[in-house]
Amino acid sequence: MKDYLIRGTTVDGSIRFACVTTELVEKARKIHDCYPVATAGLGRMLTASSMMGTMLKSDDDKLTIQINGKGPINGILAASDTTGNVRGYVGNGHLDNQVKSSGKLDVGWAVGLDGVATVIRDMGLKEPYIGQVPIVSGEIADDLTVYFANSEQTPTSVGLGVLVEVDGHVSASGGFILQVMPEAEEKHVAAVEENLIHMGQLTDLIHKGYSPEKFIQEILKPFEITIFDKKEISYVCNCEKERIERALISLGEFELTELIEDQGQAEIVCHFCNKKYQFDKSELSELLRKAKS
Ligand code: ZN
Repeated sequence: MKDYLIRGTTVDGSIRFACVTTELVEKARKIHDCYPVATAGLGRMLTASSMMGTMLKSDDDKLTIQINGKGPINGILAASDTTGNVRGYVGNGHLDNQVKSSGKLDVGWAVGLDGVATVIRDMGLKEPYIGQVPIVSGEIADDLTVYFANSEQTPTSVGLGVLVEVDGHVSASGGFILQVMPEAEEKHVAAVEENLIHMGQLTDLIHKGYSPEKFIQEILKPFEITIFDKKEISYVCNCEKERIERALISLGEFELTELIEDQGQAEIVCHFCNKKYQFDKSELSELLRKAKS
């Protein structure tokens, strides 16, 4: 099954998102050479950012989520837009595995508790919208649930799961965001809460081959859902030399002059896809000329 995301609603107007992200998380693991706990942490962040990206209003808007609780993973960042395509990175992908008594990878320990989860929505205005909440567990889904409650005043339930096999590869990944709209009926909300308690692990369902439609229906039963959007999602980096040039120019005259005199060249590596961009002395001199003008 290709990765895809759906948006749907029940009859009372509650909006729900669900997606399967197994392939894109496996691609991220390979790009960043992540060990299991980092794969789980990055995979959960990528899955959340894909769904949250599609909640943006305009096609030009961009979303970045970050979490850093001073734990050994040294922060995780994921970015998306309305396409739902994602990219991201972890500070330290080579962490030793720490497993909780439940047998789950201890993402909370890796992320740490001393810090914040940050959601940045860049809507092309002068200043982006930045929402921040203190980390509650570092498990990411909990932290984003708190973010939605605080920043958007919408009761929300976020579920994220990444199943990493013993050999390190990702065999199931996905998530959901449930938002209860004011018009939702009490009995619907209560039924969904019951379902969430009894449905078991999301990754087990995905591993069994459940599609987003099927597991979201499992969560929302017995209420019928209408799917109004479905899109394929992937791990996509849209870095380009021009953007890296602009970043170099923004270093300013002093830094660029120093770079040219000390190194005579520069190699910039994209954090998201590890692509290398080389700049020789004449290119750097040209950028310095632009920085001066
Ligand atoms: Zn890139």
